[in-house]
Amino acid sequence: MAQLLDGKALAAKIYDKLAAQVADWIAADRRPPGLAVLMVGDNPASAAYVANKEKACAKVGILSFSEHFPASVTQAELAQTIQRLNQDDRVDGILVQLPLPGTHLDADALLLAIDPAKDVDGLHPYNLGRLVRGESGIRSCTPAGVMQLLAEYDLSLKGKTAVVIGRSILVGKPLALMLLEQDASVTIAHSRTADLAAVAREADILVAAVGRTNLVTADMVKPGAIVVDVGINRITDSVTGKSRLVGDVDFAGVAPIASYITPVPGGVGQMTVAVLLQNTVKSYCQRFGI
Ligand code: NAD
Repeated sequence: MAQLLDGKALAAKIYDKLAAQVADWIAADRRPPGLAVLMVGDNPASAAYVANKEKACAKVGILSFSEHFPASVTQAELAQTIQRLNQDDRVDGILVQLPLPGTHLDADALLLAIDPAKDVDGLHPYNLGRLVRGESGIRSCTPAGVMQLLAEYDLSLKGKTAVVIGRSILVGKPLALMLLEQDASVTIAHSRTADLAAVAREADILVAAVGRTNLVTADMVKPGAIVVDVGINRITDSVTGKSRLVGDVDFAGVAPIASYITPVPGGVGQMTVAVLLQNTVKSYCQRFGI
């Protein structure tokens, strides 16, 4: 039976460390780090993510400068807000909660408007470019969270075969580059991959980042593989009638044959928020030369 890769426990450790650092700065009469989250519209999932981020900030002493806009907000208003936050000395990190509602807003243009030094989501082309070049910089939160979780369990990736299912700029592509940086041999699989099961079965480390319940079943997993489930899907439990979160991996079927596996919830999702706070603190340290 696979050992759990416990994102909740590691996130708690990260929060404790960050909280101690921030408390030291406050005691030394420095200002606290600040994070601005821009949320547009009323998507319930986005609202829940933003609330989680604010709660986590409060836990470690990071100030939240969240701004909530109606779905009718214009591109110009959002761009002006970003420019103002770029100039605001109390703000170390700026994040636009995605996806944006409707079709009138250009998310890429907004990400480009964020000062790369405050791009705590690591999605600005400058920071993504540094990742491609193997240079240090702010790394996107979910893939960086996966890498920290693997490191926490001393799982060496050197020479291992890694398969990442999903090629988004948010998760799949940057994660593939991070695995490559750790000397894994990486394949990216996606919706057009021929024989996904055969590709997945080659993996010593299998990552699912798609958003499809039960995409990865036991027959697609090499015995002893490390399985990382990034997917977040809300389903209605047929027994209780209540809604709950599941990943992309058939956990009950895969856990008995994998060596390590992330739970959903309690795995990668917890790490994403923890890395966001780490990135905010990192940006703060860079601003003050700490
Ligand atoms: P996305 O929709 O941008 O990308 C999905 C990817 O899956 C695409 O590259 C597509 O090619 C691939 N895909 C689609 N159908 C497929 C199939 N049948 N077989 C193989 N590949 C297929 O999504 P995303 O933003 O990358 O997010 C992926 C999942 O991860 C979602 O469930 C999302 O909610 C979740 N997510 C979780 C966290 C977290 O903190 N745990 C963070 C971000 C995203």
